[in-house]
Amino acid sequence: MTAAIYPGTFDPITCGHIDIARRAAEIFDRLVVGVYDVPAKKLLFSTEERVWLAARALDDIGNVEVTSFGGLTVDFARKAGAKVIVRGLRALSDFEAEMQLAHFYRKMAPELDVVCLMSSLEYGFLSATMVKEIISLGGQSEGLVPDFVADAIRQEYARAKEASPRR
Ligand code: ADP
Repeated sequence: MTAAIYPGTFDPITCGHIDIARRAAEIFDRLVVGVYDVPAKKLLFSTEERVWLAARALDDIGNVEVTSFGGLTVDFARKAGAKVIVRGLRALSDFEAEMQLAHFYRKMAPELDVVCLMSSLEYGFLSATMVKEIISLGGQSEGLVPDFVADAIRQEYARAKEASPRR
């Protein structure tokens, strides 16, 4: 049985992430989606919210679990009993960063391997950052994130605006 992890920030999960998770779940026997708890970037959602949104988006796939993690990704992979770290590649610009990450993972944990899946054509330019900006400006969310994720983004921005009206 081959288990894999799919780590990321997922702030929030998008149709691009869902596509990668679905495809990885067909390749591996078990996929653990790992929501990184405190990345360096500024987040819209808490760890619990990101886990909840991702779990709901993927709940129809039997061999996928969603959980949060902290610390080193390779330690998370080991604890999950995984041999593979799945990542998604959109444009060439993703490649350099992913290559660097993969080298670090191999250095720290030679028993693990990184498998990068190419994004599907329709999600090649989709990023969580872009989706948040489009939705906060009143744009359409269709084909970018599930409706319940779009609602959560709108609510979060409305809450932020209420807390600080001049933003
Ligand atoms: P990170 O902060 O680790 O980059 P993200 O949540 O942004 O985490 O993404 C997790 C993984 O999913 C990364 O490998 C990223 O390249 C990939 N990914 C993000 N968006 C897409 C997309 N639209 N298509 C394919 N892969 C994607």
